[in-house]
Amino acid sequence: MELITILNHCHRHRGFVYQRARFAADQQSIEVDVRPRAGSVAICSGCHQPAPGYDHLPQRRFEFIPLWGFLVFLLYRMRRVECRNCGVVVEEVPWCDGKHQLTRAYMLFLARWARKLSWKETAESFHTSWDKVCDAVEYVIGWGLEHRTLQSIRAIGVDEIQYAKGHKYLTLVYQIDQGFTRLLWVGKERTIASFQGFFTVIGEQLASQIEFVCSDMWKPYLDVIRQKCSQALHILDRFHIVAKMNKALDEVRAAESRKMAREGHEPLLKKSRWCVLKRKENLTSQQNIRLRELLRYNLQTVRAYLLKEDFQQFWEYNSPTWAGNFLDFWCYQTMRSRIEPMKKIARTLRAHRSLLLNYFKAKKQFSSGVIEGLNNKAKVTMRRSYGFRTFRILELALYHSLGKLPEPELTHDFF
Ligand SMILES: [Zn+2]
Repeated sequence: MELITILNHCHRHRGFVYQRARFAADQQSIEVDVRPRAGSVAICSGCHQPAPGYDHLPQRRFEFIPLWGFLVFLLYRMRRVECRNCGVVVEEVPWCDGKHQLTRAYMLFLARWARKLSWKETAESFHTSWDKVCDAVEYVIGWGLEHRTLQSIRAIGVDEIQYAKGHKYLTLVYQIDQGFTRLLWVGKERTIASFQGFFTVIGEQLASQIEFVCSDMWKPYLDVIRQKCSQALHILDRFHIVAKMNKALDEVRAAESRKMAREGHEPLLKKSRWCVLKRKENLTSQQNIRLRELLRYNLQTVRAYLLKEDFQQFWEYNSPTWAGNFLDFWCYQTMRSRIEPMKKIARTLRAHRSLLLNYFKAKKQFSSGVIEGLNNKAKVTMRRSYGFRTFRILELALYHSLGKLPEPELTHDFF
């Protein structure tokens, strides 16, 4: 069987024929000549209509999927057409888009691997460059964003994620419908403008159909949601509140531990960090013993810990009214605790009381932790791609792993 036969079988294009396959001079790659089928008319790349030929450009090499350790190139002289609408322009060819050096099939092939491996590993595996892998992913993502359907989004979640060193943030918007989650939007920074960008993309009509919005307490997000999604039930994400509370508790512990050391007390709080931060059921038996010991002392850390543990009950309620009563009482108690970081939490919770209670109105609709799960995936993507410095690259990588975007279709699956 000849190479041409295989190519005709898996990568055939109307109006073009494969002419000859041979080794290139370096013996490392295979070159395949392509020419227009006799009598076929070129297509204008401006208006996608047939147009009379004008002249030929110099031969171009289009990289195709490598075969048995050989790089494969399709060689073709692009025609220019004299189009009635567009003037003299280059023709459109079905195996490649615009200025890309890689064929569509190869870009899709690389992009698929780049979802399983890091981009660097993908480039190394197929003896190509990181830039070409990036190019391939960019093409596939661009196509996907253009062709994705955004109808019927019922629930969205918005979150910020830190990247690079220093305080650089991205705003991520997810669809969190039951049974269907995906990344919808990546915004630079975590400002009002970055979140509004999402609503510009989906348009007012779609925004008005959103029934649930899940967010943290970041004020710019709250403002945009109030403005753009006023009809939706706005829920504060449980995971963020738990995280905030842990942060406060950790502050209390660290400060008290320092104070005890300064005043020459026994270092009771040494190695206590995870004993108080972890959920009780996740403690190792050693940590459990340590915690029990610790609880005997009248320490600020212990009191803050008990307040935090007590608050877990809040999530167990079914009725918003009872949850509200509990919240009020918890805040009242905490405000009298004289532990400043915890008081600060109580004040924040009070200020967001109605949004917190929305959690109970919508409770049955979501599995909690959906955003947390997506965020963890996003973090893994960013970690795996530590070479991604720019926002654009990061954006591509995130869409690639979490966007569930449609892919351009090929007649053959090159797997
Ligand atoms: Zn045209």
